Amino acid sequence: MGSLISSLRDAYFGIKAVVQTLAEDYADLNALQARLNSNPGIPVSNPTTSFWLQNPPFPDLVDKRSKTLPESADILIIGSGITGASIARTILSECASMGVKKRVIMLEAREVCSGATGRNGGHIKCTPHESYCEYKERFGAERAKVLVKFQTSHLPIMVDLAKQEGWDLAEAREVETLDVFYDEKVWEENKKMVEVFRREMPEAAKDTYIWERKEAREKYKLGEHAFGAITYQAGAIWPYRLVAYVLDSLLRTYASDFSLETHTSVESISTVNNLSQPFIVHTSRGDIHSSHVIHATNAHTATLVPGIRGKLFPVRGTMTAQRPGKMFPELDGSRSWCLINNEGYEYVTQRPGKIDSLNGMGGEIMIGGGMVQAGRKGFGELGIASDAETNYLIGCHLGGVLPMAFGLENWGNDAPGGRMKNMWSGSLALTADMMPFVGRLEPSLTGRAYEKATLAKDTAKPISPPGEWISAGYNGEGMVNAWLCGIALGLMVLGRGDTVAEKTLGRPQGKLEEWFPREYLCTQERVTNASVFKLLETR
Ligand SMILES: Cc1cc2nc3c(=O)[nH]c(=O)nc-3n(C[C@H](O)[C@H](O)[C@H](O)COP(=O)(O)OP(=O)(O)OC[C@H]3O[C@@H](n4cnc5c(N)ncnc54)[C@H](O)[C@@H]3O)c2cc1C
Repeated sequence: MGSLISSLRDAYFGIKAVVQTLAEDYADLNALQARLNSNPGIPVSNPTTSFWLQNPPFPDLVDKRSKTLPESADILIIGSGITGASIARTILSECASMGVKKRVIMLEAREVCSGATGRNGGHIKCTPHESYCEYKERFGAERAKVLVKFQTSHLPIMVDLAKQEGWDLAEAREVETLDVFYDEKVWEENKKMVEVFRREMPEAAKDTYIWERKEAREKYKLGEHAFGAITYQAGAIWPYRLVAYVLDSLLRTYASDFSLETHTSVESISTVNNLSQPFIVHTSRGDIHSSHVIHATNAHTATLVPGIRGKLFPVRGTMTAQRPGKMFPELDGSRSWCLINNEGYEYVTQRPGKIDSLNGMGGEIMIGGGMVQAGRKGFGELGIASDAETNYLIGCHLGGVLPMAFGLENWGNDAPGGRMKNMWSGSLALTADMMPFVGRLEPSLTGRAYEKATLAKDTAKPISPPGEWISAGYNGEGMVNAWLCGIALGLMVLGRGDTVAEKTLGRPQGKLEEWFPREYLCTQERVTNASVFKLLETR
């Protein structure tokens, strides 16, 4: 355990660094433990205003709902973020290809896609050299390769989907990404990780380059505090708009099978003695009976799945949209950055276009992070599910870091209109073992027992026996996890994991087990063993 913990502690930064530093504040640990174990509740009704939710491409989708809440569903998805959208798309398209009709209902507590997917950094990036070394230490080299391939495959799949469908406003694109290091020790450690990655995954590492201090500063216009940079391919996206395109197309294509019910909070779930439809979902607008209930509720999952409290919990993240300075190079959205310090980092993308050129938008630098810069090393943000406030010190840091990171001479004066356009917060979901939870939820986790139905093996139009399901807890890396986890979960619900899928737009080919990491499967044993406080044992 010791080496696992120390490898985790060495490898993690950003959110992970918050966990690392907890041990220094033992006095606050009890309060933290209570927060992590508490009920995150239903999303608040007065969230901060996210840049991404402005100018929605489908205004009718924002508050879409039926006049009367449907009373019954085959499959009920709670949550309308990227996970819910991916699950719905998989289930509906798979049912259509099988010639099966299943009634799918998506419930959303607030406006459509107003959770983390509508409030994040839009960075499609998993830092493969760092992830590979971390996973290798935990799971061995072969499994580390599977995990890294799973995460990196999101970029081509999502970019191709948006391109082929003509979803241009989603701005899904490849970028050249830079990890810029402002701490010499972390810089040296990362260079070593790149060496390992190059040796053991040469194909994946072929576009990874190391730039020492002088060349990095000159080529990429970095400030004097930068020790060097590592560059490779990543992506960026307007995540809300991708989801909006997906949901709009599903509502049009499957009008009689799919409905979206916004402003409909799920308050509780109960079970009845009904083999085919054991669940009653109690919402703010009435009850719905369903065969399957899917929790795609991210940071709020533990509200309805009490057995997962303390194992999957919310963390408040802060995001900003800022105008680049007058000297900042025009990159038209082609580059992204992580600004990495000895503790924590900021993730940065830049939207395409010139500053404010289209309806007052364009060229914004989208920067978030800074969590460990807040008072008490940022761990005050752990266990907070509300996105109604921002953190003062994090806001100060994000507001000032850009000219320092890029250098005052490369930034220049602030652009007309000022630097800061928007600042907002969002709730992301962290898991105690830093891996997502995907799959069927055992009744021991939901606290809801029900009589189990068994389906004959030769059922012509298969679907798994009724149950509750989860796909959540991407540890701040939803853009390289949620889409394919959603597909995997959709296939599990339909009992289609063994089907060999052809290459289809927006989907991986082959059997589920060939591309989906088994380390993500949600089991009672995994949940029991996961403990955020085990990370502190070495202190
Ligand atoms: C500030 C911030 C920055 C981030 N930056 C990045 C990044 O740059 N790159 C990256 O890869 N990841 C990033 N993430 C993480 C990423 O956004 C998430 O992992 C991902 O969006 C999760 O998608 P989801 O669909 O599972 O959850 P969400 O998008 O949160 O959707 C869940 C939905 O469920 C709804 N809901 C919850 N409870 C209920 C209920 N009881 N009844 C009805 N509805 C309910 C919520 O309102 C919400 O809309 C960031 C997250 C945050 C908060």
